[in-house]
Amino acid sequence: MTTMAKTTEQVEVKLNGEANAGSSCAPTRGDRPTEPVIFEKNSPGSRAVTLPALDVNPTETPNELLGAAPDLPEMGMLPVVRHYTHLSQRNFSIDGEFYPLGSCTMKFNPRINEWAASLPGIVDLHPLQDDSEIQGALALLYQTRRFLEEIGGMDEASLQPAAGAHGEYTALKVMRAYFRSKGETQRTKVLSPANAHGTNPASCAMCGANVLTVKAPDGYTDLDDLKRLIDTEGADTILGLMITNPNTAGLFDRKIDKVADIIHDAGALLYLDGANMNAVLGKTRPGDFGADAMHYNTHKTFSTPHGGGGPGAGPIAVRDFLAPFLPAPQVVQRPDGTYALDYDRPDTIGKVRSFTGQFGVLVRCWTYIRACGPDGLENIAELAVLSANYLAARLQHKFETPFFDPKDGRFAAHEFVTVPQRLLNKGVTLNDIAKRLIDYRIHPPTMHWPVRNCLMVEPTETESLESLDGFINAMLAIAGEIERDPAQLALAPKEAVVDRLDIVAADRRPRTVWERDEQGG
Ligand SMILES: *Cc1c(COP(=O)(O)O)cnc(C)c1O
Repeated sequence: MTTMAKTTEQVEVKLNGEANAGSSCAPTRGDRPTEPVIFEKNSPGSRAVTLPALDVNPTETPNELLGAAPDLPEMGMLPVVRHYTHLSQRNFSIDGEFYPLGSCTMKFNPRINEWAASLPGIVDLHPLQDDSEIQGALALLYQTRRFLEEIGGMDEASLQPAAGAHGEYTALKVMRAYFRSKGETQRTKVLSPANAHGTNPASCAMCGANVLTVKAPDGYTDLDDLKRLIDTEGADTILGLMITNPNTAGLFDRKIDKVADIIHDAGALLYLDGANMNAVLGKTRPGDFGADAMHYNTHKTFSTPHGGGGPGAGPIAVRDFLAPFLPAPQVVQRPDGTYALDYDRPDTIGKVRSFTGQFGVLVRCWTYIRACGPDGLENIAELAVLSANYLAARLQHKFETPFFDPKDGRFAAHEFVTVPQRLLNKGVTLNDIAKRLIDYRIHPPTMHWPVRNCLMVEPTETESLESLDGFINAMLAIAGEIERDPAQLALAPKEAVVDRLDIVAADRRPRTVWERDEQGG
């Protein structure tokens, strides 16, 4: 290599932003040395593979296909494998560490899913094959559809949406198409409780619907505020209510049927954000408590290694009167028992994704549901709820839980929220606590949401009692550290591959591309 490369350490300095701009390299701690970027490992002449000798006559490459060769490093196979293995070891992952990221349902992904999704008969399919050649894949999709209809207590599902937020958007389109078919185009307002997931109002905005926030001061939807809003806005302007239940305060809203009645009395529809279905699987069904439409996050509830924005699948399920408007094509079973993609849906809102949706993720969803079976699904809900309540109950004396109060019948659903005010009063920030958890090899929980200065903890049903106890011990140890010497926490994490990044700079001005430094520095 003729020019000197910037090291990863220098890239990290940039991520650290102004605070560290003067130092020559960011301190690197822990037992893993700094990993140079792959360009710095360039070894001219090295090859990772040897291609077999040509057994046909060589032809000239047409001029228009010729260009400058990409400036890629040359390396042997082993150094390449080691490079990427080292990088993977610097990562936090659900396979390596506990990942109690509230609302994200980061649960362990059973390996049988990966086995199924990598079967040759699955991975070698082409989406443009004729229906007659892909009967097995269509049967799998059809069964997945039926499972999701049954689990949600709904009449018809569509597997097309590619994520939860995409499902919300698609279902809103379906709801609007339904009202349009009835001539009720003036219904453009969507109500949403204050503790709704951030994607709910965002999806409404994308569909051109106005969002009105319903108060939820104690974590539950305020029924009086709901009625008041409907009265002042005019019942016939309301398209529906989007509600997350169990919600982001970690509570199951038992008055959901009352909410449904109020919405239906206004002639509007109830949409259920089903991202937290793992808390209620087999126990209750959105269709039974009044929802007209819902989405699943199969990558949360039914496992798929997700994170960093993908991959996922966000199927929606609706009641019969909304079904004609679902996306086309729909996967159907014909009277002769064969499966097909049905494009003949005159009232459909159209396609929202290419082909049949996120097939590989749906294969994992099907496999997970089949591997668990009905009892297993119910067991998921029981364990997810038990784990969250166990953590909340054992941490409550040091980490206040504004919404969790078993004495008042307020149990946690799948997750709980803590606002550790007494510890924060000692002069530490929430970020200090989150970063210190990394030193205990635990991924920080979701922060500052749904309320400021909170941690939202979701253990999921897949963690053992030992790992839950490990989390409790770590949290209590950190509480002890804060009580003894709060200033120490500002230095956390001490054991991680890199120390504390400037989170604003890392978010706003990330440098994710390596550049050769012609100055040689
Ligand atoms: C994760 C989540 C969503 C969004 O789902 P994506 O698949 O990330 O688009 C919506 N609502 C809730 C409650 C969620 O937890």
